[in-house]
Amino acid sequence: MSARGRYDAVVVGGGHNGLTAAAYLARAGLATIVLERRELLGGCCVTEEITPGCRASTTSYIASMLRPEVIRDLELARHGLRMVPCEPSYQVPAPGGGMLAAWPDLARTAAEIERHSVRDAETFRREDEELKRLARYLQPFFLEPPPDPGARGVDGARELLRLVRRFWGISGREVSRLVAFLTGSLGEYLDRHYESEATKTLILANNVYGKHGGPYEKGTALGLLFHLLSGGEHEEQGFFGHVMGGMGSITQAMAAACRALGAELRAGAPVAAIRARGGSVVGVALEDGEEIDTPLVLSNADPKRTFLGLVEPRELPAEFREAVAAIKMDGPCAKVNLVLSEEPRFSGMPADASPGRRALVTLTPSLEGAERLYETARRGEIADELWVDCVVASNVDASLAPAGRHVMTCFVQYVPYRLREGTWDDEREGLGDRVVRTIGRHAPNVPGSVVARQVLTPLDLERTYGLTEGNIFHGDLSLEQLFFMRPVPGFARYATPIEGLFLCGAGAHPGGGVTGAPGHNAARAALRAARRGLA
Ligand SMILES: Cc1cc2nc3c(=O)[nH]c(=O)nc-3n(C[C@H](O)[C@H](O)[C@H](O)COP(=O)(O)OP(=O)(O)OC[C@H]3O[C@@H](n4cnc5c(N)ncnc54)[C@H](O)[C@@H]3O)c2cc1C
Repeated sequence: MSARGRYDAVVVGGGHNGLTAAAYLARAGLATIVLERRELLGGCCVTEEITPGCRASTTSYIASMLRPEVIRDLELARHGLRMVPCEPSYQVPAPGGGMLAAWPDLARTAAEIERHSVRDAETFRREDEELKRLARYLQPFFLEPPPDPGARGVDGARELLRLVRRFWGISGREVSRLVAFLTGSLGEYLDRHYESEATKTLILANNVYGKHGGPYEKGTALGLLFHLLSGGEHEEQGFFGHVMGGMGSITQAMAAACRALGAELRAGAPVAAIRARGGSVVGVALEDGEEIDTPLVLSNADPKRTFLGLVEPRELPAEFREAVAAIKMDGPCAKVNLVLSEEPRFSGMPADASPGRRALVTLTPSLEGAERLYETARRGEIADELWVDCVVASNVDASLAPAGRHVMTCFVQYVPYRLREGTWDDEREGLGDRVVRTIGRHAPNVPGSVVARQVLTPLDLERTYGLTEGNIFHGDLSLEQLFFMRPVPGFARYATPIEGLFLCGAGAHPGGGVTGAPGHNAARAALRAARRGLA
């Protein structure tokens, strides 16, 4: 290594995708370094102490789509990762009283729904089977580059063959349903198939998570298929997992895998610039002035940070920069993490509920309520009654809090990134108050038992975790920003207009969530390019 520093590959950002990419690059024999701006590796997949002895998954909090292949290849279990299935997968206070839960076991969920509508229970059984079948057609695209509509000649024939193979045996009816799920709205789907408010609320609870748009927005039905992709160590469809030690255990296991494979990991090392010359990457410059030479850079930062913040404008075609600037971010979510002196007691919780059942409650509005909530956020306002996904993580993992303390993480949507009046610095505690009040309506003992509270507004998600406009997926997961259009049309295969520069984070296909898929796929693309001598 020279005094300036030289590596075969530099990964900018130590989020779970950056770590995944680094592990695959190191495994292929490349001298690889990860440079993370925060003092803590993991990006939005971390466990942090919020008061002494009380730890929480401060940002992401449930592992549902972490690719089984990544778990196996990186030997994450050997490096300490342990997940237990969420039982139930999720649950809502049912309109009219009681709780309604979705379980990993379909029959058990159907039995719960049957209490509200026999017809809905039958439909749910049928639809769940069909949705799972349809999700299996999309599944392979997760760990592959998206289809390339621009491929011609031999490449075009290969692409066509791949699509034919992936969709072999699909019936005409399945094609139309797949298109309907890709383009339709969740609200219309629910109104068409289900009669009881309770069933609709349950399905709504989990399916427009973190996205822009109310449930009647076109494209929101796709969430139904996304959540049925397989996850967990055993490749279960529709898997939801609690991670022991919090989500940070995933990235700690990934970091351990990286080190074991020989990659170097540096935290507290913000990258100020990705250097390119003559259309090719030549290195990176750190904020402290250090320069590192490399022919290969994989950026885990989101597309706007990467291309508009780290690369000199003259190195990129103007139309590419314009396309990146137009990516819809505008994060609609916030997070409030609470330390409590008592376990929350939610009204309607069955008396014999297990600690696992008492750990998950999503306070979901009705379909119309969700639509109104989104409209309020779109106007730049904060609603009084919010949509809050509560997870009492300490109920399933005692290591997160000492006796007498409980940790509850609360994911909040919809809130605006841009407030119509005031700033998030002024409104932060007001948001925290609204969230606690909303929870208090369902669990009256919570407001009086808050010992500590951490409120992460969209602005905090941007400042602390490096998410442009607080978007938790590095770009909204709407149809026009997915597949061969992610991050922008023409550059959906991890490569960029600069030779040797690849995008490896959630802004690339297949998108956000803790999956490891963009990191895995980008490393593959980069290694292929390196072998061809491009890098
Ligand atoms: C509040 C919240 C709740 C969520 N809940 C869930 C959930 O329950 N389940 C789920 O699956 N997903 C959830 N998500 C989404 C998921 O966490 C993200 O989509 C995913 O973690 C993105 O991973 P990544 O590695 O691509 O990027 P990130 O985790 O964003 O990592 C990118 C890294 O790059 C670093 N970086 C940026 N710029 C630089 C620079 N110039 N120099 C050095 N480093 C840099 C950042 O600091 C960061 O560490 C949630 C996200 C948030 C914010």
